[in-house]
Amino acid sequence: MTWQRFAVLATLVAAAVLLNGCAQQTPAGPRIYVFENGAIRGLDPALFNFTREELKEVDFVNQSYLIVHPSGTLMFDAGAIADAHLKDDGSVVTEGVVTASKPLLPQLAAAGYAPRDVTYFALSHFHSDHTANANEFASATWIVQKAERDFMFADSPRGIVQPATYSALRDAKTKILDNEDFDVFGDGSVVVMATPGHTPGHQVVAVKLANRGTVVLAGDLYHYPEERTTGRVPTFEFNLEQSKASRARVEKFLSDTKATLWIEHDKPTHAALPKAPAYVD
Ligand SMILES: [Zn+2]
Repeated sequence: MTWQRFAVLATLVAAAVLLNGCAQQTPAGPRIYVFENGAIRGLDPALFNFTREELKEVDFVNQSYLIVHPSGTLMFDAGAIADAHLKDDGSVVTEGVVTASKPLLPQLAAAGYAPRDVTYFALSHFHSDHTANANEFASATWIVQKAERDFMFADSPRGIVQPATYSALRDAKTKILDNEDFDVFGDGSVVVMATPGHTPGHQVVAVKLANRGTVVLAGDLYHYPEERTTGRVPTFEFNLEQSKASRARVEKFLSDTKATLWIEHDKPTHAALPKAPAYVD
């Protein structure tokens, strides 16, 4: 190859890399990347006020999401087992009822993003099956309800909680909400909705997608689809009345906007979604 031909080729490769990078950073509209964060097995359905026979699927999946908007990114939830505890060979690691084999950050990287590329970070809630890698996102602006943050940083937080997994958020740039919604990018396409009850400041995210329509990332507003049809609520809610009110509000939003609900622990919902680096838009 002549020097000139090599120079032309190198320029073309550089341009392709640049274009590809730009395409990943600035899509025309919002898109959602879905990450696989393992499973929870062996749960007692009675915890959720069901018998085994009443549920199609008892086991949970764990997942998290990167929402990419033309103006920035929002990471929602952070997995159930920290990347540092997972093995390079992809073998399954078990911590109590939780198992996982795929670390989160390589999945994020496959989609073209590093934690420092994340503009906003939000948790559906502080339970440890959602916070494992939260410290990785402390350079983002943390979107959190005041009641949730107060609970997380209380002297001895109660319940399903591992404060060490999110301790770095204490000093993160923070958007504190007072039981209110937040239009993340200012155009109504990505909205964090206050849905207290499961925890003091539980949140869901509504995302307007060009092709799929509006999707609501439900966190643990529900755990099983059967909760929607029976009205049953888990036994361990922080505030039962708030949970019912939050569910009623989201159900009205779903019917008003013809939106789709993605229950975060629901195995069939997760199975039907493309996983990163593929995305939904
Ligand atoms: Zn959960």
